[in-house]
Amino acid sequence: MNTALRHEYLAALGLEAWVMRNQPAASTVASTVAPLPPSTAREAGVDWPELRARVAACTRCALSATRTQTVFGVGNQQASWLIVGEAPGAEEDRQGEPFVGRAGQLLNAMLRAIGLPREQVFIANVLKCRPPGNRDPAAGEAAECLPYLEQQIALLKPKIMLAVGRIAAQNLLRTDVTLGRLRQQVHRFGSSQVPLVVTYHPAYLLRTPGDKRKAWEDLKFARGVCANV
Ligand code: SF4
Repeated sequence: MNTALRHEYLAALGLEAWVMRNQPAASTVASTVAPLPPSTAREAGVDWPELRARVAACTRCALSATRTQTVFGVGNQQASWLIVGEAPGAEEDRQGEPFVGRAGQLLNAMLRAIGLPREQVFIANVLKCRPPGNRDPAAGEAAECLPYLEQQIALLKPKIMLAVGRIAAQNLLRTDVTLGRLRQQVHRFGSSQVPLVVTYHPAYLLRTPGDKRKAWEDLKFARGVCANV
């Protein structure tokens, strides 16, 4: 990406003066490993169309009764980057696509700032259906839905996962550690041991623009991790 274009994207983030430097290598940072739940095998061996069909028809948890539609995920099925959020919101539930609206636009700008158009990544959520009122996912809902994400990972074989937001990070890593303490580390997800980096949710950054600089540091960190995979 040329310098002018990168500055344009950084301006969208409110970070126009920021300069890339000192990207850490994956081997120099702490690592935690999230265990794979026993339900993982349930979706093993299915291809993209079959998996999409299973999600669309899923009634494993009560969210199936209140959703407009499932939100499977979107993007490049050869992507190196898998972006994982918490769950669909109202607009995502309407459109059937993750990260749309203002938060989605900010996510797109964040990705473009590190040279990744939205079309080059795959974007999904821990939950494929919207919790009513945008409440946090219940533990049982996440447990029922995670095997779908795990099979998406098995099909995609990403080089890196970026968990956006506390809820996504805590569900993926099976921890209640704060987002602030999960950032700037390389975690590992599931049996595939995919490197996983944590950052803020763009909806949070819209409410708390002072933390955009930290998010930018996280993206540079993740890019450095990906380059060393
Ligand atoms: S949230 Fe997941 S497990 Fe629950 S009904 Fe939707 S697709 Fe099925």
